[in-house]
Amino acid sequence: MEDLILIVEDEPPQVEVLRYNLESEGFRTVVATGGEEALLLVKEEEPDLVVLDWMLPDLSGIEVCRQLKARPDSKTLPVIMLTARGEESDRVRGLDTGADDYVTKPYSPGEIIARIRAVLRRAHPERDEQLLKYADVTMDLAQHKVIRDGKSIHLGPTEFRLLKTLMERPGRVFSREQLLDRAWGRDIYVESRTVDVHIRRLRKALNVDGAPDLIRTVRGAGYAIDIETA
Ligand code: CA
Repeated sequence: MEDLILIVEDEPPQVEVLRYNLESEGFRTVVATGGEEALLLVKEEEPDLVVLDWMLPDLSGIEVCRQLKARPDSKTLPVIMLTARGEESDRVRGLDTGADDYVTKPYSPGEIIARIRAVLRRAHPERDEQLLKYADVTMDLAQHKVIRDGKSIHLGPTEFRLLKTLMERPGRVFSREQLLDRAWGRDIYVESRTVDVHIRRLRKALNVDGAPDLIRTVRGAGYAIDIETA
């Protein structure tokens, strides 16, 4: 599941820019246009990170941040504060709001995305250890995501487990029986040709836009993830 970002900002053009850029990077978004609404949405939507503007019509961003950091259920929720250039940003930084990072307006989309990713990485160090990489494919096991050449690949649960099995040992040829054991479990009865059906789906999902086929069929033996060297 993609991370959910709560955008707290009262100016519609700012909201639209943030929303557009976050969603094009694969994040999900939810928007609050005031401080009270933000506090409510944190409880209701359980976002993974909050982008919080300092200047809001009701509660200030500083107050919202303090309240979030004071509550046991949102204490560890990462917050990035948005401030205006100059004195305001210095003042906010000087106040001990508990924010995880600050971004000064105007900012570039690239800058805020980079800050969000950095704060999320710090908040979830365990995620880094759950990546499998082969060629241009990355599997994020914790988040159940597959990326090929920077693009998100959507796989069904069986295809996900098949790919995980293959990516744990690149180059190794797995028989259909071995794949059944690992991707379906020993106790489930599935015909071995079912493996072929799911491998076909996996190939179709992975090999988008004419990308090279990474799955090698070894006649009479099974399948492997491999770059053809022939
Ligand atoms: Ca504002």
